[in-house]
Amino acid sequence: NSAIELRSVSKWFQRNTPAVHQVSLQAPRGALLALLGPSGCGKTTTLRLIAGLEIPDTGEIYLAGARVAGGGDWTPPEQRRVGMVFQDYALFPHLTVRENVAFGLNGRSTRERAARVGDLLALTGLADLADRYPHQLSGGQQQRVALARALAPDPQVILLDEPFSNLDAVLRKATREEVRRILRQSGATAVFVTHDQEEAFSIADIVVVMRNGAIEQIGAPHEIYLRPSTRTVATFVGEANFVPARASGRCAECVLGSVPLAAPRNGPVEVMVRPEALDLCPDAAGCGLIEEIVFFGHDQLIGIRMCDGTLIQARTGPRIDITPGARVAVRVQGEAVAFPYDENREPRTK
Ligand code: ADP
Ligand code: MG
Repeated sequence: NSAIELRSVSKWFQRNTPAVHQVSLQAPRGALLALLGPSGCGKTTTLRLIAGLEIPDTGEIYLAGARVAGGGDWTPPEQRRVGMVFQDYALFPHLTVRENVAFGLNGRSTRERAARVGDLLALTGLADLADRYPHQLSGGQQQRVALARALAPDPQVILLDEPFSNLDAVLRKATREEVRRILRQSGATAVFVTHDQEEAFSIADIVVVMRNGAIEQIGAPHEIYLRPSTRTVATFVGEANFVPARASGRCAECVLGSVPLAAPRNGPVEVMVRPEALDLCPDAAGCGLIEEIVFFGHDQLIGIRMCDGTLIQARTGPRIDITPGARVAVRVQGEAVAFPYDENREPRTK
């Protein structure tokens, strides 16, 4: 039984282009789902449809097995047991941390409220800041207040729209571990929106890649990265080399030699190889010529001109045996993904 299920949900704001198009997805109870995609691809609209802030034009939405939208059913947002954390946190400036968190707990006894607020402040590490006002808090602390407030009424689903976008890079990494821990402990099923693949990969159990209002792929982070179902997904979630090849079953022949394929194919294809899947070995007779090295410390990106003119990119740890002008033998580690050959696409030579 899924905590959240969307069946062919579409939403149009303009006549010709749907903001959300035929979106179907399921989130198991307690899962952490990321909606990943570029700006304007329909992520926020999808969250708002789940929350009940938008009405779908077609399709159905189920929460904990009950239909809340579609097929003539409609459950208003306040009855959906859905908590939301907005991009700008939307805290009440004239209320303290404690009062902000207590806000959604009307209708409970004073004692019950105080206990629940105490639990949430402890869970989010805000107990010492309970009497401060939002303007007296850092960005990361404000975000935890927003999270505590959304979790206080014990929602079955929590929705977070670009929760880390207002934090600087250092704080963002620390906060994302913290938010993941809090969400796990709360037991709620969470959906969060991001345009950052690293954020999606490091937090979510399930990543939903969206493009132009539709879902491109749903999978575990490593599946999305290593087995992208389309070229668009492959390039959106990381750096990728596409190398023309001839496939025969589980093997493809190309300038990188014989490359094992994740799934059988036949005929002309392009194999997708991640830069870190390339193994380099200094070899005066090797097919690769090192053109450029960008050194980052913990790793480096290496531009390699292959003997057929193709330019490929490799990522290795820091190493001293490879320098510009040297020749290398290049091998692919692990299995590669093959896409149908696209005649209109020029191989990368510049
Ligand atoms: P994302 O969150 O992925 O950036 P959105 O869901 O906000 O994308 O928007 C998807 C598309 O729908 C965009 O083209 C956006 O301009 C349009 N859109 C979103 N909300 C509205 C609205 N209330 N009225 C008109 N168009 C909207
Ligand atoms: Mg958005």
